[in-house]
Amino acid sequence: MKFVFVTLFPEQIEAAAGHSVLKRALDAGIIAMECVNPRDFSLDRHHSVDDAPFGGGVGMVLKPEPVVEAIKAAKAKAPGAPVIALSPGGVTFRQSLAETWAKNESGLIFVCGHYEGFDERIYHWVDRKVSIGDFVLTGGELPALLIMDAVSRFVPGVLGKLASAEEDSFSSGLLEYPQYTRPVVFEGMEVPEVLRNGNHRLIARWRRKEALKATYLLRPDMLPAEPDKQDAKLLQEIKEELSQDDSSCQGS
Ligand code: SAM
Repeated sequence: MKFVFVTLFPEQIEAAAGHSVLKRALDAGIIAMECVNPRDFSLDRHHSVDDAPFGGGVGMVLKPEPVVEAIKAAKAKAPGAPVIALSPGGVTFRQSLAETWAKNESGLIFVCGHYEGFDERIYHWVDRKVSIGDFVLTGGELPALLIMDAVSRFVPGVLGKLASAEEDSFSSGLLEYPQYTRPVVFEGMEVPEVLRNGNHRLIARWRRKEALKATYLLRPDMLPAEPDKQDAKLLQEIKEELSQDDSSCQGS
């Protein structure tokens, strides 16, 4: 799968992708990335890519000509790939989008803004505006890298086992259950016995219950409105245990 970045700062993209899982996937040719710099398409003597906003105001706006020419060049490198502009005003990126986009064999094109953002007319060449959250960063490079990372985890072969992406928080519809590795006892804290007894049915039940508990405590908005019988029973147990904990705290 190919990721093409339209960016004024290709060094930032290259530096961030050169490590760990993404680097291995790039080296193995499972994913590929390329950058296109709008500055290379600027026609004036100073290779300028920004200009003052019409109507006044602080900051500079990215000029349409070099950005659109760079998008066209990116499309030639990844024909058929959707063009995604990074923008705080876009739809919020989520795990479900990562999973869907990973199936897109033609790849993805990211258009990274800077300064005060793009001249509005570039959106004629864009398929989707995407935000990574309700805050404003200095540029679209970090959001684009973040999306490449999340999408790549669903590309077959990038992770050792695809199952590990599918069991992660959000993919299962719940936050993930706690994970442990050796040693069994660390600073007086012991790995739950159930994880060490080899009973896969009990391990699966414990994991489901812990995932439900984490979600109930931290992201109750993610819980299904009508849980199935098994989840409803586990949630009831969780609520009872938490209320017991509460009353024993008040008693002490
Ligand atoms: N004036 C713009 C606004 O208020 O929406 C903010 C521009 S921001 C300083 C510069 C660039 O960073 C944006 O064009 C976009 O590409 C990127 N960016 C900043 N925050 C982002 C976010 N939360 N999600 C996605 N991209 C973001």
